[in-house]
Amino acid sequence: KGPDPDLVAIAERMATVKHKILVLSGKGGVGKSTFSAQLSFALAAKDFQVGLLDIDICGPSIPKMLGLEGQDIHQSNLGWSPVYVESNLGVMSIGFMLPNPDEAVIWRGPRKNGLIKQFLKDVYWGELDFLVVDAPPGTSDEHISIVQFLQATGIDGAIIVTMPQQVSLIDVRKEVSFCKKVGVPVLGVVENMSGLCQPLKDFKFLKMMENGEHTDLTEKVIEYMREKAPEMLDLIAASEVFDSSGGGAAKMCTEMGVPFLGKVPLDPQLCKAAEEGKSCFAEQKCLTSAPALKNIVEKL
Ligand code: ADP
Repeated sequence: KGPDPDLVAIAERMATVKHKILVLSGKGGVGKSTFSAQLSFALAAKDFQVGLLDIDICGPSIPKMLGLEGQDIHQSNLGWSPVYVESNLGVMSIGFMLPNPDEAVIWRGPRKNGLIKQFLKDVYWGELDFLVVDAPPGTSDEHISIVQFLQATGIDGAIIVTMPQQVSLIDVRKEVSFCKKVGVPVLGVVENMSGLCQPLKDFKFLKMMENGEHTDLTEKVIEYMREKAPEMLDLIAASEVFDSSGGGAAKMCTEMGVPFLGKVPLDPQLCKAAEEGKSCFAEQKCLTSAPALKNIVEKL
């Protein structure tokens, strides 16, 4: 029996891709797709040629997060063409293939695995510096497939996105264990929604002040800040939302012997950027999340 022709085809396709990074999470809703999207924007901003592959077949949010809702995939004799955000950032997702985004995708494992295989075999990425793969949450069939399909051509490793609380971290341990079992290096863990951080000037009492509904005290505080330290108004007020008294992801990383990449705060502006399909690095709005994400990307 010769080599599996599908794996040979995948290896040929992936021969033009330098680095492959999987983005994983133990649970849904922790910000895995947001991170994948912003990581791709960040790498593209550094002039790398980037591909973002969304294999979260049941919940493809990547098209929206990159401002590509309603776009179609085109086919050429080279294969399926990704949808391009910019000339150096291409995206592929099942979201582009669904006639109605509100419709549930109810597929069993083999069909999902078939599509993942097809994505890897038939998408014409051309030369890529990075292929970022946004995986579904958990460790299911699709994860085993993507690892198996990619391993023949090498995976750089996985980034695991989590939240600070124990309930989220328990599942991250499973992700780390999965990576160890299948031989995928853990590039590191990102603690997302780690504290709510907002510039002071977004806080309600400042808005009240502008509307003339202030009290004497807030007026005095603001006046003082305006005069003595106007930059203070951009200062960040942080408060914890999710419990991290267990030490959060950093402690877990030490225990499990995997790198901790950093924390990204819960930033209303980041959520807005994701809703609008924008990069959080492009405008100066994501004051707290963008620098944190940039730091993480620098570590990769
Ligand atoms: P997952 O891919 O893990 O299911 P998503 O990336 O879809 O999670 O994120 C879930 C929701 O939380 C989205 O609306 C997203 O915009 C928002 N979100 C994710 N990370 C942050 C953050 N750091 N600050 C604010 N909102 C965030």
